[in-house]
This record gives sequence, C-alpha cells and structure tokens, in this order.
Amino acid sequence: MKCRKCQYPETKVLESRENRDGTAIRRRRECMRCEFRFTTFERIEGRPLYVIKRDGTRELFSREKILKSMSIACQKREVSSTSLDAVADWVESQCSLCDDSEVSSQKIGELVLEALLKIDPVAYVRFASVYRAFTNPEDFVVELKKLTEQHASGHVLKIPPLP
Ligand SMILES: [Zn+2]
Repeated sequence: MKCRKCQYPETKVLESRENRDGTAIRRRRECMRCEFRFTTFERIEGRPLYVIKRDGTRELFSREKILKSMSIACQKREVSSTSLDAVADWVESQCSLCDDSEVSSQKIGELVLEALLKIDPVAYVRFASVYRAFTNPEDFVVELKKLTEQHASGHVLKIPPLP
C-alpha cells in the first residue's frame, strides 16, 4: 500500500480492526519513509460499500467525494488538510465497519456535519446550507443556534477520535 503523502510503496500496519461479520477491515498504517500515518479500509470482494442517494440511485462509496465537499465548505478557513483527512477517515470508518453494504447519503452528510461542528463553525454552516438545501434565512438561524449551544457546552475545536 502506497503512502498517501509521499507515494513510497512500503508501509507498516500499526493496528487492524475487523467489523463483526468479517466483511471489512480497517488498518492504521505508517509510511516506512516519511512516517506519515493514514488509514485504509478493505472490504471483501463482491461486497463493496454503496451509497444510496436521495433520489434512490446508488453509487460506490467515495472518500474523495467526501473530502472534496468538505474542502469546498472549508475554503479560506484555517482547517488543515490533516484535519479533513482525519474526518474523512472517521466518516469512512463509521460507514465501512457497519455490517451493511449500503449507507445513505443522508447518514454521510450527518456524520460530516457532526465532525465539522467540532472543527470549524463557518465550514459547518456552509456545509449545512448546501447539504440541507437552505432556502431562507431562518434556516441559518436554526443552525447558528445549535452552534451557540455547542459552544456553550465546550465541544469545539476537537477532531472526533478514531474509533
Ligand atoms: Zn510517506
């Protein structure tokens, strides 16, 4: 498995975790050259993970798509690519390690929101406005209220821990 950062072909596995029915495995890896750590997911052949979209169509789960939509929401914000990477790993982990071979796009959206809420309030509101298809200013007020409550409870600026 190539290093996601420097493309070096050798990495060592630090930790592995399988889902309950043994159809998916999560591996924490470290590059043998630059020591960059990243996570990979493997599913047994014939049981890929699909995303069911709102219109009922399905497509293969894509970590890249999640990263892309998050980077759009994080434009001009001080959110590191390491943080976004950690969120993508967390979301993929939540989806991959369940025993189903399908996950709804709605669930993915909610997971991303949950993570962004802890990382960057502006990115959170931006993502929510696209994801929940805000149509009027009141929608923003509702989200901002949630943020204020979150802030009051002290749950800010923390990347969700990897399970
Ligand atoms: Zn590397």
